[in-house]
Amino acid sequence: MDIETKFTALLRDRNLKATPKRLELLSVVANYNSAIPYSEIQNKLHHFDRVTLYRTLNAMLDGGIIHKASVSSDEVYYAMCREYCTSECHNHKHVHFKCLQCLEVSCVDVTNPIQIQIPNVVIKQVEIEVSGVCEKCI
Ligand SMILES: [Zn+2]
Ligand SMILES: [Zn+2]
Ligand SMILES: [Zn+2]
Repeated sequence: MDIETKFTALLRDRNLKATPKRLELLSVVANYNSAIPYSEIQNKLHHFDRVTLYRTLNAMLDGGIIHKASVSSDEVYYAMCREYCTSECHNHKHVHFKCLQCLEVSCVDVTNPIQIQIPNVVIKQVEIEVSGVCEKCI
């Protein structure tokens, strides 16, 4: 199955129209080898105007298809979600890791499940940011 067919199916599954712009944005995010910085999306999709890019990104965030992966930085990073995100809920069981040397941000699975409890509140989302030195930079 080619990537376009795959994304068309994914968008339909979330009741979103598979417009050429959405497919283009998704292939840019998916083809980047780590979480992609917003400025890089802008570079690659310079033919999108600001509003179109903003709307397309938001539709993908709301649809549970991509998520923000910022790690204490001025720039927002985006990454593809896995199958278990839905339009109601992003359900990530991974952390965002930033390499302090190459500045790459990536989604990494943790070996022990993250469990946090706070008295008298209902936790909907937990964001954990981790930084260090990546495999390539050690
Ligand atoms: Zn997600
Ligand atoms: Zn690195
Ligand atoms: Zn992630």
